[in-house]
Amino acid sequence: VCPVGALTERDHTNRLLEDLEDPDKVVIVQTAPAVRAALGEEFGLPPGTLVTGKMVYALRELGFDYVFDTDFAADLTIMEEGAEILKRLTAYLNGDKSVRLPILTSCCPAWVNFFEHHFPDLLDIPSTARSPQQMFGSIAKTYWAEKMGIPREKLVVVSIMPCLAKKYECDREEFKTNGNPDVDYSISTRELARLIKRANIGFTLLTDKDFDLPMGASTGAGVIFGTTGGVMEAALRSVCEIYTGNTLENVNFEQVRGLAGVRRATIDLNGFELKVGIAHGLGNARRLLEDIRNGRNEYHAIEIMACPGGCIGGGGQPLHHGHSDVLYARANALYREDAAKPLRKSHENPYIKTLYEEYLGKPLSETAEHLLHTRYFNKSID
Ligand code: SF4
Repeated sequence: VCPVGALTERDHTNRLLEDLEDPDKVVIVQTAPAVRAALGEEFGLPPGTLVTGKMVYALRELGFDYVFDTDFAADLTIMEEGAEILKRLTAYLNGDKSVRLPILTSCCPAWVNFFEHHFPDLLDIPSTARSPQQMFGSIAKTYWAEKMGIPREKLVVVSIMPCLAKKYECDREEFKTNGNPDVDYSISTRELARLIKRANIGFTLLTDKDFDLPMGASTGAGVIFGTTGGVMEAALRSVCEIYTGNTLENVNFEQVRGLAGVRRATIDLNGFELKVGIAHGLGNARRLLEDIRNGRNEYHAIEIMACPGGCIGGGGQPLHHGHSDVLYARANALYREDAAKPLRKSHENPYIKTLYEEYLGKPLSETAEHLLHTRYFNKSID
């Protein structure tokens, strides 16, 4: 079910089928990291079976013009969010009283919706970085569309998400240009499975296909976004190297992994102790935020995901009925994909580097702020 309890599942599959048949439209798709770790369950495969390559093949068979990966945008999120963490941390340590910590992650739209409604006095502490879904849409409809010579009105950006709140995120006004959304609509993992079955695609028999470039290229850091602790671990891989100037000998931050509801870790940055927290489930998030509101903060940065387990346990995934062994299997699938990647730090993604060289300049530049950041609204009810 939807973690904010306010959303009903909207099915966009018929709209998608119409778009795929329209010869005037270019229809592209991005797939969130958690989808590949659970989609196979809908076809009888055991939890934790990675089906990345089969999923790409099936999306091509369904008729998408380009098949990309949200993990690319997860790497981009780390570039922006990591720069924001370093900027706020440096200002705070230099005594700037206008800067508040901890910085909170902002990639989960159910979590964003929750703090806008319940903690409007803390709207200045979450990162302003858009979610990977929205960063992808923004870059696809500007940088990539311009390179490809595709007019914005002809380009349809679809996302495959483990999440029902992502459907609502696509509709937020701040993610539209002249009424045209950056991401046109989102399809859940279960809806994708239904589409594959309707098309009579023998999913389990498919061979592996690769994502298209450039927005299909990602590092291992982008992959682990799909599980609780993954965004923090991805951020730590980049923040540690950029802050200290040293190459990490081990990129696995085991301290932030696992399924405990709230986890804490202290990371040594050349003598400075960076304190981070991870929470999943909105009950845990509420307790952390109430502590912060009451001046009992012990963290510099906190990752929060609304769903138990993070996106692997999202409301659009195959139902897991609260079985933690299913969540562990899905999380381990993502850690396996991460470990097998030749590059595992977001700032080493060569296509992200090119994007900055050709278009964005540098993290937090004026263009990056415009395309990749957002603002929050007081939605509390008196
Ligand atoms: Fe969606 Fe992931 Fe947030 Fe769950 S944790 S609401 S799946 S973004």
